[in-house]
Amino acid sequence: MRKYLKNFLLRRVKKIGNAGVRDRIKKRLFGGLFFPSTIVIDVTSICNAECPFCPRTLVSSGPGVNMEDQVFYDLVDQADHLGIKETRLYASGESLLHPNIDKYIRYLKDKKFHVIISTNAQFLDRHFEALSKVDWIKYSIEGWDRKSYEYYRKNCSYDVVLSNIRAFKEYLSGQKIKPYISISVMVNRETDIEKFNGLWSKYVDRVDYGKTMGVFDWEEGRIRYRDFKDERCRANMYSFQLRKNVDYCANIFETITFSPSGKAVICCQDFNGRIVLGDIKKTGLKEIIRSPARRALQNEFMRGSIDTCKDCVIFYEMDDRSRDDFNGKLSGIQKKEGV
Ligand code: SF4
Ligand code: SF4
Repeated sequence: MRKYLKNFLLRRVKKIGNAGVRDRIKKRLFGGLFFPSTIVIDVTSICNAECPFCPRTLVSSGPGVNMEDQVFYDLVDQADHLGIKETRLYASGESLLHPNIDKYIRYLKDKKFHVIISTNAQFLDRHFEALSKVDWIKYSIEGWDRKSYEYYRKNCSYDVVLSNIRAFKEYLSGQKIKPYISISVMVNRETDIEKFNGLWSKYVDRVDYGKTMGVFDWEEGRIRYRDFKDERCRANMYSFQLRKNVDYCANIFETITFSPSGKAVICCQDFNGRIVLGDIKKTGLKEIIRSPARRALQNEFMRGSIDTCKDCVIFYEMDDRSRDDFNGKLSGIQKKEGV
């Protein structure tokens, strides 16, 4: 009966012409019932870098830990059983630093998961074979030349990243099926987008331009916005304002996120596990997905009272001046590319 009702309502909702409205209603109606489609498995909180814009500089406590094998395999097996077939293997650290990352990737691909990984690419050369099986690789780079790269990716080497990315492209050139590769840059006022594009776009399928805001911390069970500690990041960041009419975040409905210790947390913004929804070492994945804690957060969104997440980046947008500057930079490349 429940299934019949769900399908009936879904058919009605599908007829709504406006995609945004349609998705919104669909999520509001079914968010509490649907299982997530993605499991985020944060395999490690260890990182070789100390990027000045990374939340690790502010909120990370301790040197970081690797996920235990038992936790990883439990999560994957249970997700597989529940039909959750997409996984992101990153959140708070450099995933390629987990000693068993290659085995993990092979295991997931044997079970036909869609695997997404993000990396600063400093250790790419040690993992070519396993990475060639991944569906989507995201390079996190930031720099448009040696100087800017080594500032924004502190402790990383420009020569290493360039040679690794070139060599991986070469490695993949003989393969029929290749991972989709994107590269992202968190743009601020000083970012030279044209140079960034000129330097990296030839090695990837897509370049993503994000906007640098501050970082986020958690206080008394709520996410809190913080300015960057780093002076250069602070001086160059764009200005933001509250977005109008946005009171929805898909993360809490569509993903379930696990920290390296095996705890389910609200989302990948929760680096230190401040909002815990369950623990895979004690409870099954299905129970965590249906837990009162997760349902309570979903209900906050469905009621339109987003108290826990009020300060999150999702609810902010650039102010007009910043947007003009950002769009101006982008249109420079688009003109060059004839878009
Ligand atoms: S490489 Fe990523 S996780 Fe590591 S410090 Fe930089 S932004 Fe943070
Ligand atoms: S609104 Fe922000 S903090 Fe809340 S679930 Fe979404 S991404 Fe996470």
